[in-house]
Amino acid sequence: MIEVVEGDITLLDVDAIVNAANATLLGGGGVDGAIHRAAGPELLAECRTLGGANTGEAKLTRGYRLKARHVIHCVGPVWHGGDQGESALLASCYRNALSLAARHDLKSIAFPAISTGIYGYPIEPATGIAVREARVFQKSHPDMRIIFCCFSTRDAAIYKKTLGVLGV
Ligand code: ADP
Repeated sequence: MIEVVEGDITLLDVDAIVNAANATLLGGGGVDGAIHRAAGPELLAECRTLGGANTGEAKLTRGYRLKARHVIHCVGPVWHGGDQGESALLASCYRNALSLAARHDLKSIAFPAISTGIYGYPIEPATGIAVREARVFQKSHPDMRIIFCCFSTRDAAIYKKTLGVLGV
């Protein structure tokens, strides 16, 4: 129930896709820009009502023109070298997104590699955190389908290797 796919997260037919947003929740570059373009202006209108989010937090909106029914907006940490609590904050993103999905009775959720683009978090340790949190969550929620959507072949290979090493 943990899958790795390569491609554009905005095309996935799932209950929720996760957005790697910034604290304003009002759009940005990278996957955030792609999600807002694909979802349409109604998404930005709903995001304006949310009042932003703290790093590590997750907030849910509808998916509008996306195939995905919902978007879970997470604010990942900016990488400052690793000694500013980045790993705990990144783990919070995954934990909070997954519990929000469960609270709303969602059964499938797709994550991008949060913080590993513009925010500069190195992909290998970020993947380790993502996979660990997914596995811990699945012990209590075995029916949740968790998808890691990678934007490059290299990232997909790192996720597959990490899942293999961790014995999923
Ligand atoms: P952050 O600011 O959290 O680092 P980015 O959007 O810059 O967020 O990058 C997060 C990850 O999302 C990176 O691995 C990037 O390659 C990936 N990404 C960018 N666009 C898409 C997309 N359309 N679908 C899936 N992943 C994407």
